[in-house]
Amino acid sequence: MPTLVRISEIGLYLRCPRLVYFENQRKMPKRIDAKQILLRSLMLSLSQKSDLEGQLKEILARLEDELPLVYEIEPDDIEPACRELEGEIAGIAQGLAGRLDLLLPCQAEVDLHSDKLGLSGRLDRLAPGGTPSLIRTGKAPQDGIWKRDRLMLAGYALLLGEKQRTHINQGLVEYPRQALVRAAEIHSVDRARVLRIRDRIRQIKEGRLPDRPEDALCPACEAREICETRHSLASKFF
Ligand code: SF4
Repeated sequence: MPTLVRISEIGLYLRCPRLVYFENQRKMPKRIDAKQILLRSLMLSLSQKSDLEGQLKEILARLEDELPLVYEIEPDDIEPACRELEGEIAGIAQGLAGRLDLLLPCQAEVDLHSDKLGLSGRLDRLAPGGTPSLIRTGKAPQDGIWKRDRLMLAGYALLLGEKQRTHINQGLVEYPRQALVRAAEIHSVDRARVLRIRDRIRQIKEGRLPDRPEDALCPACEAREICETRHSLASKFF
C-alpha cells in the first residue's frame, strides 16, 4: 500500500515541490518562529465565547511558561514574542468577537487519514457544522484566501467527506494576525487538484528531485543552501 501523503506536504509542495524532496530526505533546516507558534496555540486554546480579551491574555501568560517545555524554543525568544502579541490582543479580540460562533464549540487538532485516498493530516479545527478550519499565521490576502490555503482545505474536506460519506463544500481560514476568519467554498476542481498533487508528491518521495520552479521564492527559502548545492552538483555531472 502506498505511503500516505500528508496535507501539510501538499502545502509545502505548493510553496515549492523541491521542499517536499528536502523534507523527505530530512535535509530541511529547522526554522522555529516563536510568534507563529504562539498565535497558533492561542487560537487552538480558545474555548469560550465570553470575555475574549481576558481569555486571550490568560492563555498567553500560560503559553509563555509552557511553550519552552514543549518546543525547542528558548524562554529568551518567547518573551519578546509574548510582549509583541500582548500589544495586539485587544485588536485581535475586537476583530474575532463577532466571528466566534463560526469557531466554537469545536474539536481542535483532529487527526484524519484515509487509505483509500492515500492522504492523512491533522486538521487545526473542526468547527460547528463539521466545517474544516485552518489557522494561518501569515498575512491574509486582500480578499478571499490564498490558493495554498484553498487547496489544503480541499484536502481536509476530502478526508472529512470520506469519513462522513458526504461532500464538504465549505471551509474556514483563520488569520489571527489580522483578526480575520474567512469562509471559502470548496470546489470539486480543487479536490481533483489535490489528488494530482498527491501523485506528484509520491514520485518525489520515491526519490525524484523536481525541477526548480521559475517562480520559486528562493531568497527567503530555508532550504536555499542545500538546494543550491544540489544544483551545482547536478551541473557538474551533466
Ligand atoms: S531554494 Fe528555491 S528552488 Fe530551492 S527549495 Fe527553496 S524555493 Fe525551491
